[in-house]
Amino acid sequence: MSNDKALVLFSGGQDSTVCLAWALTRYSEVETVGFDYGQSHAVELECRKTVLEKMAEAFPSWKAKLGADHMMNLRELSAISETALTRDVAIEMDESGLPNTFVPGRNLLFFVYAAALGYRRGAQTLVGGMCETDYSGYPDCRNDTIQTLAQSVSLGMARPFAFETPLMYVDKAGTWAMAEDLGGEKLVEIVTEDTHTCYRGDRAHRHDWGYGCGDCPACELRANGYARWHEAKV
Ligand code: ZN
Repeated sequence: MSNDKALVLFSGGQDSTVCLAWALTRYSEVETVGFDYGQSHAVELECRKTVLEKMAEAFPSWKAKLGADHMMNLRELSAISETALTRDVAIEMDESGLPNTFVPGRNLLFFVYAAALGYRRGAQTLVGGMCETDYSGYPDCRNDTIQTLAQSVSLGMARPFAFETPLMYVDKAGTWAMAEDLGGEKLVEIVTEDTHTCYRGDRAHRHDWGYGCGDCPACELRANGYARWHEAKV
């Protein structure tokens, strides 16, 4: 096991792309893992390959560190959960105050599966884009949840795993700023053009912040963050 090797939970979205860049500036070896959990819009998974290719092309020093990309099939998750991310239904809040885009336990499962893979690949650090700020109401994105899980996984696998969440206290404007800090205009361009965030899987409408329907909660967060980041720059 190496604490200089990281495995990044990489979906092809804005947050995990910035986390991947973060990892590539800190670790000497970086592998990526994506999860197919029956997302009704698989467009995010298609974006993964493009983002990886573009990052390798634009940053030769990162290319040298990028190792294997893994995909894991977690399709049972959609069979056992009723959610707007895995069913074609409207996005709304449920009676408990959670949006129906919430897939119960999703991030917990992601980390446990990633740890099992990291164990085999010798990667002691797992990196995820979970975030408490701009809080979408997902209890499995909270720092306490992630860090107590890291303890459980370390005990249960008898390996000292570290779960890193560089965006935990960063808002969406800060995520754009981080992309610029880590990779300059070239990375901002990749994030804008090739990462996907929209819950509806819309790649037909291009805005200054990238592609999306423009009015689902994910697009609203991304657009709003972009606007605030841009305002702070000028
Ligand atoms: Zn959208």
